[in-house]
Amino acid sequence: MSSPAEPTATPPPPPPPPPPPPRRRWSRWWWIGAAALVVLGAAAVVAGVLEHRAWVQTVAEYDAEVARVTAEAEGSRARAEDAYTTSHDALRDTIDDGRPVYRASEGQVADPTVRDPLAAALDRAEQLRDAEVAYPSAVRTVEEVTRPNPFYRETLPEVEVEVVDGSDPPPADLDAAAADVSEATDAVAEARRQWAFAELRAATTEGRDAHADLRPQVGAAALTSLGDAVADAETILDAGEDAVDPDTAVPLRNTLLETTQALWSDRLAQIHAERRAAARADGVDCRTDKCVALTFDDGPVEDTRRLLRILDRKNAPATFFMVGDNVAKRPDIARAVADGGHLLANHSWDHPQLTTLDDAEVRDQLRHTQNAITDATGFTPFLLRPPYGDVDGRVRALATRTGLDVVLWSLDTEDWRTRDAQETRSRVRAQVESGSNILMHDIHPSTVDAVPRIVDDLRERDYVLVTADLLVGGDE
Ligand SMILES: [Zn+2]
Repeated sequence: MSSPAEPTATPPPPPPPPPPPPRRRWSRWWWIGAAALVVLGAAAVVAGVLEHRAWVQTVAEYDAEVARVTAEAEGSRARAEDAYTTSHDALRDTIDDGRPVYRASEGQVADPTVRDPLAAALDRAEQLRDAEVAYPSAVRTVEEVTRPNPFYRETLPEVEVEVVDGSDPPPADLDAAAADVSEATDAVAEARRQWAFAELRAATTEGRDAHADLRPQVGAAALTSLGDAVADAETILDAGEDAVDPDTAVPLRNTLLETTQALWSDRLAQIHAERRAAARADGVDCRTDKCVALTFDDGPVEDTRRLLRILDRKNAPATFFMVGDNVAKRPDIARAVADGGHLLANHSWDHPQLTTLDDAEVRDQLRHTQNAITDATGFTPFLLRPPYGDVDGRVRALATRTGLDVVLWSLDTEDWRTRDAQETRSRVRAQVESGSNILMHDIHPSTVDAVPRIVDDLRERDYVLVTADLLVGGDE
């Protein structure tokens, strides 16, 4: 129904504007969400790429470690054996060089502080050389690696490899032992070279002196080999100590000594034969006569002149073993002894115990005395009585090579102790026998006092007085 009463005076109010459509609000959130998803997605992709790269890197490192360890293991035993063998060969060679030097140095290198370290080093080195060798090994491990990615779990397994770790004994020990041997060998070789040089020089001096001393009496042919050896030695000596080879020098030195000794032995035998022949020509033959020798040691002194007058009056020959130093002080008395027809002999230069001296010192003792007597009298002795009868094979050999035969005594009057003329005479009378070599000292007046009666006693009992060289038999 319409209501015409109702006026249409006021229009109805306009409808309120519609609210913004809810569709628009929903759409904004969608965009935000979409954007967030894109960002997350992108982040996931980046994270995935980084994780992948890290894993690739890890795998590469793992593979490299496995390769390294495998390579180390491969041939590790061969390398250890090579290293050991190289050091072992070097050690063996060093021992082979050092041992003969050590052996050769015996009796040549006297200083124990030089020789002992080589002995010790060789012993240690030989123990190492002969030691059983082992090649110990160790396990090298490459740890297992697991990929932390929960979507792609992957595991690289643990890898174990056996690697030979050198040798036992280690090459370094062998090298150190070889170095010790080498150093000690050099020291001994050097000391041996010095010894060989000094010995060769001494033997050359002896040989040269013998050559000169013997030239007047011995045929040139006999001297040739000695002369050749001396010339060879002089060539070596001229080159100097550093150049000397002991393996050449020592045999040459031995040749020199042996040749010198042989020539002097022959010459001494010749001297004795000549003197025995001369004595027999004078009617004295100690093979049949009751020979005794009066010998006087330690002079000459002033009182020796009184003794010479007694002996001259009795026409009794004697033998005087002179101290070189006394001869040098009283050459006129030495000459008077020689002029009296007595035999002059060597009793060293100043009366030491010769066995306590070294070769050069013994040689000087003998040689200087020889020279002093020869200078004073023109006569060169061929007999040596070592002071105190102190003698050994070495001193005897040195004496022979100086042209001296060693003569001791058989009857000791002990005149130096008793200093009593009557006692000295009694001892001779009580102990004398055929061949007696009677020891007295012209430095004691009591001994000189005893001599006239001793000579009378001996002649009364048909003893023949001779010089000491003519006695037959032992000199002990
Ligand atoms: Zn003496």
